[in-house]
Order: sequence, then structure tokens, then C-alpha cells
Amino acid sequence: MQTGFVGLGAMGAHMARSLHRAGLLTGVWNRTADKATALAKELRCLAFTSLTELAGNCEAVVICVSADDDLRAVIAGLEPGLSPNMIVMDCSTVGAATARELHTRLDALGVGFLDCPVSGGVEGARTASLAIMVGGDEPVFSRAQPILQAMGKNVAYLGASGAGQAAKATNQIMCAGIIQAVGEAMAFAHAEGLPLDRLIELLGKGAGSSWYFVNRAPFMAHNSFPAGFRVRLHAKDLRICRDMAAQHGAQLPVVESTLAQYAQLINQGFGDEDISSIYRLKSALFPAKPEPT
Ligand code: NAP
Repeated sequence: MQTGFVGLGAMGAHMARSLHRAGLLTGVWNRTADKATALAKELRCLAFTSLTELAGNCEAVVICVSADDDLRAVIAGLEPGLSPNMIVMDCSTVGAATARELHTRLDALGVGFLDCPVSGGVEGARTASLAIMVGGDEPVFSRAQPILQAMGKNVAYLGASGAGQAAKATNQIMCAGIIQAVGEAMAFAHAEGLPLDRLIELLGKGAGSSWYFVNRAPFMAHNSFPAGFRVRLHAKDLRICRDMAAQHGAQLPVVESTLAQYAQLINQGFGDEDISSIYRLKSALFPAKPEPT
């Protein structure tokens, strides 16, 4: 299936490369055009000059942009070029209600829409090993399988439109609790004077381990938080979780406390760092200790 990719950010550029390796990528579009030109040159594919042009030259479109209104803007740009039986697949993390809204909008044009948010971080995107949570019409999911399988290792259909985003929100709540726990534990271990790299190696195989411990505790040990999953993006996801929980009449303590800590980090100018920078706040709980080296 001729596939176009929209949104060449930290995740999207790698996902587009995965589609290229599978022989599926026709071309790319990015809001900041330079990124599309550079990737098209690297992959020898097309750099479309507009979303409408991309839609008019592809059978499927994969989108990975920041948030709900960004996705709406991309869909509006694609719309004039879309034709019946095309498939639009959104891998961004947005609200389940937004996914249902866009499913209805594209269904009216005869275009299939899947919400297929991903988990696995930049590493998962680079190695095409993402977990992909899919909501939408099952026949559309079946047709989209080659594209999904090219980007992820674990792809699951979870139900009607919005189910993928609900699953992703579930995951983001877990990530909030885990990154807080890993940050707190690492600040404690540092205060105890433990050899952090050896500790990570060991505890990474223990019962308290997790993807975040294995992959992000090393960032904490070295007090360096290069772009991975931005604080402001996870904050955006947790606001989605907050809104979805509120519809059930619930307020979630893990979500609220993580949002409060992310607000602090954003105010301090760390909103574009990886979420492991929560360690900055956790290590400040141990004021008497020197900064880690
Ligand atoms: P990112 O590096 O900030 O990239 C965002 C991309 O969206 C860029 O290509 C940006 O274009 C584009 N974009 C933003 N607003 C747009 C708009 N209004 N119109 C058109 N394009 C727009 O973000 P990311 O880390 O790749 O994340 C992308 C999505 O995946 C987010 O929903 C995020 O929550 C989700 N996600 C991220 C991770 C992770 O570990 N990073 C993991 C799982 C899921 P420009 O280049 O012009 O800015």
C-alpha cells in the first residue's frame, strides 16, 4: 500500500524509516519543511509540498503529531486530497473523544480512520518494536496490518474507535507512577552513595525493574536527560487521562501529583527534556548530597 507519513518528530522520523525498510513509504510531509526534505533525501522518497498533495498520491496516511488540535489541523489539510477507501492512521497520543470525532468525520468521506497510538519510546520507534494499540473498524484494521506490523512488534486491535487511545491513556498513567518511583529510588540510591551504574545493572533484573528503570535510570545516574519523551508531551497525555477519568467522576492521585511536578519542571525551563528529568526534583529532596557526576 502506497503510504505517506506526516509528522517527522522524535518518533515519526524513525517510524517513517521503518515503513521505508518495509517498502511501503511513498513520501513524507512535515510542518517544518526542512525535516521532510532531509528525510526524503536520506530515503530517496518524495517530500510532498502540501498535505493535500500527499493525500492525493497515497492509499494510506500515517500521522504522528503532538496533540489533538495539531491532528485536527493535519486532517483538515489532508481532506481535499482524500478519496474513498483510503486509510488514515493516527499514531499521535490524543483524547479518545478526538479519535471518535475524526472517525465520524472521515467515515462520511468513505475514508477509514484508526486510532493507533504507540508505546516503546524513541528506541521502540527506531527498532520498529513499538507496541501499537488500535481502535476503529476491524476490517480497516485488517487492511492496515502490513503498515502497523512494519512499525511495531506488538500490534493489538482493542475495539471501536477510541479504544486505542483509551489503552494509551492507561499506559500513560502507569508511566507517570513508574517514572516517579524510578526518580525517587535513584535519588535515594545516590544519597546512599551506591555505585549507580552497577546498581542499575543489578536491579534491572530484579522485581522492581521496568522499561523506565532499565532505559532511563542511566540518564538519572549521569544527570543528563536528552530528548526522548518530552515532559510537556507527557503532561499533555496526563491532562487527557485527567479528563477521561473525570468523565467517570474520578480524580487520580498519581496523575495529579505527576502533573504538579511536570508543571514545576516546565516552569524551570525543562519542558523539552526527557521525563527522566523528574530526577531533578527528586534529588532536590536530598539537599545535603552533592550533584551526581
Ligand atoms: P515531537 O518530537 O515534538 O514531534 C512532533 C511532530 O509533530 C513534529 O513533526 C511537528 O512538526 C509536528 N507537529 C506539531 N504540531 C503540528 C501541527 N499543528 N501541524 C503539523 N505538524 C505538527 O514529538 P514526538 O516525541 O515525536 O511525539 C509525537 C506524538 O507521539 C505525540 O502525540 C506523543 O505524545 C506521542 N508519543 C511520543 C513518544 C516519545 O517517546 N517521544 C512515545 C509514544 C508516543 P515540526 O517539526 O514542524 O515541529
